[in-house]
Amino acid sequence: MKPAIDIRDLRYTYPDGTVALHDVCLSVGPGECVGLLGPNGSGKSTLLRHLNGILPERLTDRGGAVAIHGGTITSENVAQIRRSVGLMFQDPDDQLFCATVREDVAFGPQQLGLAPAEVESRVQAALEEVGLVHLGYRPPHHLSNGEKRRACLAGVLACEPTILVLDEPTSGLDPRGRRELIALLRRIKATLLIATHDLELVVELCPRSVILDGGRVMADGVTTTLLADEALMLAHGLECPHILQHRHPHSG
Ligand code: ADP
Repeated sequence: MKPAIDIRDLRYTYPDGTVALHDVCLSVGPGECVGLLGPNGSGKSTLLRHLNGILPERLTDRGGAVAIHGGTITSENVAQIRRSVGLMFQDPDDQLFCATVREDVAFGPQQLGLAPAEVESRVQAALEEVGLVHLGYRPPHHLSNGEKRRACLAGVLACEPTILVLDEPTSGLDPRGRRELIALLRRIKATLLIATHDLELVVELCPRSVILDGGRVMADGVTTTLLADEALMLAHGLECPHILQHRHPHSG
């Protein structure tokens, strides 16, 4: 089966000369849930933004290739690619800009050119999925952080992507908001790539993880194995999560 995401030798340099990605290779199979780890500045967000063609600004500037469900992203197919890949930004305020939650959730499906009745039914289904129907007419800036995240997720889900790319989905959430979001993510049936510092989330949701550092893939393997490797974790500015500490090597 073709990989859902296939990144080959991806290099990216920002216009100011900062080299953010060096020859990154990463393949994610359909239905996989993969954690993308690494210290601040390691290139996680830059990588995620390549998956739906936000970067590079001009496709001719790209070194390497990104393929989604077997099709390499080109300037001709980027609009089609965005139907498959839903990206949830790190800061919910970058994603919520309408007068009400319902309008925000409707924005993506409207951009897809769907008929109003279909937009309405997708908005309703997405709000039900994230538990926000009761707040549909509230301005997004009057939501709590956890509610904002769920509103963003509803907007992405309403486009029915087959691949969901999440940038720090639990940052800034209190324990309850975080638990609710993790429970929601667990129910989603899509290929997931999650960039995060929340290593316990990764242990819970992602059987496989990739560690980026300095724009390079430093490790790619079974999450519990990588995260229990103290030397690897320390070398890349990460910490072994408490739930894996003091684990007996044979306890699974
Ligand atoms: P992460 O998401 O892992 O924190 P980023 O992808 O945001 O990492 O950043 C990777 C590198 O690219 C860092 O060195 C960062 O300073 C740089 N960078 C990010 N955005 C820009 C930008 N718009 N212009 C120039 N450099 C940038």
